[in-house]
Amino acid sequence: MYERHLGVKIPADYDVHHIDENRNNHEFNNLVSVPRGIHRYYHLLKGKIFEAEDLYGFKSSDIEYFKIDGRFNFQEYVSGDYETWFNGTRREFEVLCNYQCKVASFISIVTPIVHVLKDIELQMSALKILQNAKP
Ligand SMILES: [Zn+2]
Repeated sequence: MYERHLGVKIPADYDVHHIDENRNNHEFNNLVSVPRGIHRYYHLLKGKIFEAEDLYGFKSSDIEYFKIDGRFNFQEYVSGDYETWFNGTRREFEVLCNYQCKVASFISIVTPIVHVLKDIELQMSALKILQNAKP
């Protein structure tokens, strides 16, 4: 079908990729023929991203929005005794540290993969443009 649309035979070592990741959407605009090695690598890396997202409970699309919240509870310091304030602050600090470590770890895992994925997506859209151009 896609071959007939393209008017050329797709090489044996090429796959047809669904751009929106919906394998039932066979609209021609949603298909691109990609070298099999690149195609497999792309889905492998996508899988790694999903794994990290499941593990950490973050979304790779949210990386830019992570903010570190360094607020301490000064109200408690003013009204309560020092011991209460100190323990409370230390607890907050520990929670904050854990969260920051989690964020940093997630970012360091996901960022290089996202870069490669974007690169492959660029290559695929270039291929798509070439394939759309009628000879
Ligand atoms: Zn695919």
